[in-house]
Amino acid sequence: MAGSSRPSWRCRRAAARGAVLLAACAAACGGPRPVVSNIQPVPRHIVLVTIDTLRADRLGCYGNHDVATPNIDRLAREGALMSQVTSHVPLTRPSHTTILTGLYPAQHNIRDNVSPSLGADVPTLAEQFERAGFETAGFVSSVVLSSQSGLARGFRTYSQKFADEEENDARFLNTIQRRGDVATGEAVDWIKGHGTNRTFVWLHLYDPHDPYEPPEPYASRYADRPYDGEVAWSDELVGRLDRALADAGIRDDTLLVVTSDHGEGLGEHRESVHGFFVYQTTLHVPMIARGPGVRAGTRIDATTGLIDLFPTLLTAAGLPVPGEPKRPGRSLSRAWKGEETLADEPSFAESLTPLVHYGWSDLRSVRDGRWKYILAPRSELYDLSRDVQELNNLEPSEPARARAMRSGLERQLRSEAAQPRATGDPPAVSPELLEKLGALGYVSPGAPSSRGSTGADPKDKIDEYKTLNRLMREGLVALRTKNYAATADRMRTLVGKGVDSFEVHYYYARALAGQRKCPEAAGHFARALELLPAFGQAYIGLADCQVAAGNATAAAATLERGVAANPRDPQLLERTAELWRHLERPDKAIALYERELPLASSDALVRVRLAELYRDAGNPTRAIALLQEAVKLDPQDASSWNALGMVLGGTGDLPGAERAFREATGRDARDAQYAYNLGLALERLGNVGEASSWYQKALERNPGFTAARERLDAARRSR
Ligand SMILES: [Zn+2]
Repeated sequence: MAGSSRPSWRCRRAAARGAVLLAACAAACGGPRPVVSNIQPVPRHIVLVTIDTLRADRLGCYGNHDVATPNIDRLAREGALMSQVTSHVPLTRPSHTTILTGLYPAQHNIRDNVSPSLGADVPTLAEQFERAGFETAGFVSSVVLSSQSGLARGFRTYSQKFADEEENDARFLNTIQRRGDVATGEAVDWIKGHGTNRTFVWLHLYDPHDPYEPPEPYASRYADRPYDGEVAWSDELVGRLDRALADAGIRDDTLLVVTSDHGEGLGEHRESVHGFFVYQTTLHVPMIARGPGVRAGTRIDATTGLIDLFPTLLTAAGLPVPGEPKRPGRSLSRAWKGEETLADEPSFAESLTPLVHYGWSDLRSVRDGRWKYILAPRSELYDLSRDVQELNNLEPSEPARARAMRSGLERQLRSEAAQPRATGDPPAVSPELLEKLGALGYVSPGAPSSRGSTGADPKDKIDEYKTLNRLMREGLVALRTKNYAATADRMRTLVGKGVDSFEVHYYYARALAGQRKCPEAAGHFARALELLPAFGQAYIGLADCQVAAGNATAAAATLERGVAANPRDPQLLERTAELWRHLERPDKAIALYERELPLASSDALVRVRLAELYRDAGNPTRAIALLQEAVKLDPQDASSWNALGMVLGGTGDLPGAERAFREATGRDARDAQYAYNLGLALERLGNVGEASSWYQKALERNPGFTAARERLDAARRSR
């Protein structure tokens, strides 16, 4: 199916040579005539749309006849189409980082979806636009691109609202992405309100990424090929965006670029999704540009890459491209105007997944014109002009060409190794995010590569990879719905297959703990911690097991080990402090909470807990200071105000106590205790009349409140 719908490379190149052919195509496609109006050559607005996981060969303008993509096809007719664009890494976050920095993954150092944030010293495209006075806005649809990635830098608006992350519904995969119409709607609303200044907008649509669940009518129309349905749906969203530009009156002033971060295997080469191999299924991406400075009907058949977008968008907007760090890409903007004919340039790509997560060999590829070479234990050479599906390995029959391409690739790898790497923050992936990414297939069951490479060719491992990945995903989806038996079953199978990784032991332990099999769980938590000693959640899980088994002292020792390994993990510090408090060791609890404070600068509750300990330890001054911080951080919490009133009252500051209790009753008018406390403070201040009315309110709220009744009776007698 996929093969037959692909245009032959040679055909497309022929089409590019003749304007006549092109015009004939435009007429045959039934679209409006290309618009070559008297538009300004420099766009005021730049809109970049990345449609995640979009194979070039699924679009009509790339020769597909089975998927309706009228909007993108129209953009291609009205603008420029790059027919041979390479993604440099088939993974969402590394590839988007390349798009937004113009650097190869080895240069920006984001090699994986769970990498640390992008280094603060790496300039981003949005920063360049922002610095030039553009209003900038990004709208992303996957948790992988949340601001933790570092890609929000330079965007004044960065919309990344996903569904309620606490939701435990069975469809949780969909709660960590959002449907494209939501992000598109937000982008459209933003565009409506920002037409006057120059703008740079990035819209990321995640819909063609698995799971494939297009909305109607695409679900029915593409019932047996839902991926194509997602593509057609994404095309509709591009149409909505383009209409919004017209409605805002800025379409003729806007450079609109549509591209993708990588493609999708869809079963070719036995790869279902993406991120493992470096075949064209996942590396060949579309790129279309329409707007000022783009001659309608332009086709560029030279090999180009996503690395080219950074310099292209800046030069198209009339902005300088920063010289440092040196970028491998080139600007396509003169070619878009028809002022330059581009030559082929080698384009490199990588997949480290087999090495990093499984200890097999990594894969590297270079595309140069019609030729593509894949460096692997059994290397591959393809002539894409005849064999776009990469079925016929020509390495044995073209040894000289293979050798030449291999040495070019090795030169590139040597220069990558010699270049200074961007430094990222330390890994800051929350346990929740890790679990979500795992269920998306982003965290693999294999161990990080400390065990080194076995050198196995990924081609020989694809079935094993799929099995391991499937078990991991099924296990995590089950864990999300607390189906602990199902999770334990999958993880047990993985352990049985010899997988001895941190993730497998950790999730196995979580599932066993969920089934109250604590002794067994403890063993797997302990193994997980041997493999990754800095993972705070595993200490907490193990300690919970030990508490459940009645051994709180052992639990405290476990948590203390965790704190020693993660001295800056606020959650771990808090859990350890709580346990010591429970074990009636306020001295230890206080010390740990104090360490947590600067790491939890917006957490009111930890301040309340610590204040209670100081109050009980006879240090009301410190307690008051902490409670004042707490009510400042969370003024709506009536209980903090009440706690503050109690400590102030204890020190004899009755006016302060009265004010605090008024804040408490004002925020929670149903609580009898707060009303009673306010009454007491007023009575001590000599205001017996108002005190009585608060005792009365306390009794109305809780008719069995004996102390309130006694105070009320006494007050009445004394009058
Ligand atoms: Zn992606």
